[in-house]
Amino acid sequence: MALVPFDDRDGWIWFDGEMVPWRDAKLHVLTHGLHYASGVFEGERAYEGNIFKLREHTDRLIGSGKILGFDIPWTADEIDAACVAVLEKNNFTNAYVRPIAWRGSEMLAVSAQQTKIHLAIAAWAWPNLFGDNRMKGVRLGMAQWRRPAPDTAPTASKAAGLYMIGTLSKHQAEAEGFDDAMMLDYKGDVAEATGANAFFVFNGEVHTPKPVCFLDGITRRTVMKLAKARQMTVVERTIKVEELKDATEVFLAGTAAEVTPVRQIGEHHYTPGQITETLIGDYEALVRMSPEEVARRAA
Ligand code: PMP
Repeated sequence: MALVPFDDRDGWIWFDGEMVPWRDAKLHVLTHGLHYASGVFEGERAYEGNIFKLREHTDRLIGSGKILGFDIPWTADEIDAACVAVLEKNNFTNAYVRPIAWRGSEMLAVSAQQTKIHLAIAAWAWPNLFGDNRMKGVRLGMAQWRRPAPDTAPTASKAAGLYMIGTLSKHQAEAEGFDDAMMLDYKGDVAEATGANAFFVFNGEVHTPKPVCFLDGITRRTVMKLAKARQMTVVERTIKVEELKDATEVFLAGTAAEVTPVRQIGEHHYTPGQITETLIGDYEALVRMSPEEVARRAA
């Protein structure tokens, strides 16, 4: 399928408080966010007209900006309303929603004290991250880049700059014939994939690395709750790379990935099993519930 470039599509983008025709949502080339990666973003998904866990995404967006030293000049209520307005204006019920905030072009140097903070929100159809490979299980190569320590980069924020090593790792994995990469952390322990958190089944229990130097995904937290609701034992702990051979099931969790089975990491092979299938089903059901029902279940 031919790719339609992202700047050559129809629709509307919310840009600093106004709905702008898609092709007019442009920036100047001397924008701080482009040169110094002073941008933070979100990836959200709408199912049947509802953005799943919208407020959690909006809170994380605001929090990511604070970690990068700026305040987004819109309240959480205003950002939520703008995300919903983008869906409505584009007539989407099922879509991916992408808010992004960045420093503008008032200053272009490492110091960016006088820059204005901008916010844009776009939405587009995006059925799933791994296309047809998803239910078969995806294959992960081992990344050469490691997730940085929390005192080396602002790892708790969903900051644009942190994706530089993700793109490099994903490209390397794709060049080697894999779908994605498994990244280790700065200590050499298992971390996450390039755009989703990782879960492992050991002895019938669901284990996942502690998110000390990577994003504590909203899907990750959702899946942990779903597993506990099924009386599964959920363990957050350091997972050593030597343990990868012992896992009986592996899956990824992320807004775009949803719950995706993994069938290979490097030289290790896995067969998606009962636990992965149960959680895929529970997640697919939950995301299609009304926001009130989702909130009720999380209580
Ligand atoms: N890690 C990374 C690097 C990601 O990009 C994402 C997707 N936002 C996740 C984890 C999963 O986060 P969430 O479940 O909140 O989408």
